Amino acid sequence: MGEFEMNEDHIREQFPILREKVGNWPLVYLDNAATSQKPVSVLDTYRSYYTAINANVHRGIHTLSQEATEEMEKARGKVQRFVNAKQAHEIVFTKGTTEGINLLAYAFSSQVKKGDEIVISYLEHHSNIVPWQLLCERTGAVLKIIPIDENGILQLDFLDKYLGEKTRIVSVNHVSNALGVINPIREVIRKAREKSPAYVVVDGAQSVPHFDIDVQALDCDFFVFSGHKMYAPMGTGVVYGKEQALRGLSPFHGGGEMISTCSFEKTTYADLPFKFEAGTPNVGGNIALGAAIDFMEKIGKKNIQKHEKSLLIYAEKKLLEIENLVIYAEKAPRVGVVSFNIENAGISSDVGMILDKMGIAVRTGHHCTQPIMRFFGIAGTVRASFALYNTKEEVDILVEGLKKARKMLS
Ligand SMILES: *Cc1c(COP(=O)(O)O)cnc(C)c1O
Repeated sequence: MGEFEMNEDHIREQFPILREKVGNWPLVYLDNAATSQKPVSVLDTYRSYYTAINANVHRGIHTLSQEATEEMEKARGKVQRFVNAKQAHEIVFTKGTTEGINLLAYAFSSQVKKGDEIVISYLEHHSNIVPWQLLCERTGAVLKIIPIDENGILQLDFLDKYLGEKTRIVSVNHVSNALGVINPIREVIRKAREKSPAYVVVDGAQSVPHFDIDVQALDCDFFVFSGHKMYAPMGTGVVYGKEQALRGLSPFHGGGEMISTCSFEKTTYADLPFKFEAGTPNVGGNIALGAAIDFMEKIGKKNIQKHEKSLLIYAEKKLLEIENLVIYAEKAPRVGVVSFNIENAGISSDVGMILDKMGIAVRTGHHCTQPIMRFFGIAGTVRASFALYNTKEEVDILVEGLKKARKMLS
């Protein structure tokens, strides 16, 4: 506790990339909702896996294979504690949120039939839309969309209307990647439980990096996230599923690792979680995900949250001093993200390009959420998103950059 607040420099020192220059400018990295940077402890863990342990897991009886298996299962245990899952075998390793949601949407195929309903929201990332559309195409199920109001807040009275005996799945994100809006996920889950037999899937890609997650307290059936947005390597991710919910699903990929016995007449599947982990997993990445969890826990989620909240408040105040700047979902509860445009100053990518010339990395465009952009009647936004290593000085640099961009573009 407190270690972090006391020493911002010490935190930044642990991220070598933050010392990089873009042209002649020091890098100001404000694109953390797309991917976060990685601390030395994660980089070292990844490297030492490949320099000292590398072997395939669960197959060999030789020493390295056993070590690799042991280390990866240790990482699974860390993920279990990190999200407070009841059991380690409720943690399935994937390569990210997209694969996780596709896994679920595919594995649900045998349980969903024509006329069944799947509820998502307007605020979803494309990867929490398209897999469900594909499931609907395969099965004849129908997709229902919870609308948002002009503040980017879910209109839950529509959820009340949609929920019923036919609702098979409700899949909503915890935090919107485009706007940073924190959705009332507990309420969504409670309503789904009360009014339908649906399974509830939470896309937690943008909440896991920012606050404590307790899947048992949330009482969701599935919780999906990526490692690379929480200081771990790309190609890592997790599907948490309640044991009973996971047991009810068909396999996603078939192949090695996921079978118990295989013959041409009949194949039986491995037990959880391996039934959903066909093929060689990203062993080094998963072990490094464990190191990212250690890193975050050492700093403390509460400290991370407090720091990022103060950055967001500071950024909003400073940004609104810029003439004609509009923040989307300004009135909604948000975390980590500020999404905005400067009216009459070109499109978002023009602004992004000028900022890039000053070493400032932000995301521009539709952020894989075209329905939200359509709702606001815009093509895209400029999105600045924060991580635990960002500083108020960096916000100041962003604001100065935006003032220049506004002059150049209007
Ligand atoms: C990033 C993101 C995804 C997709 O995650 P990948 O790591 O690209 O698979 C899905 N949902 C949300 C809310 C995201 O922010």
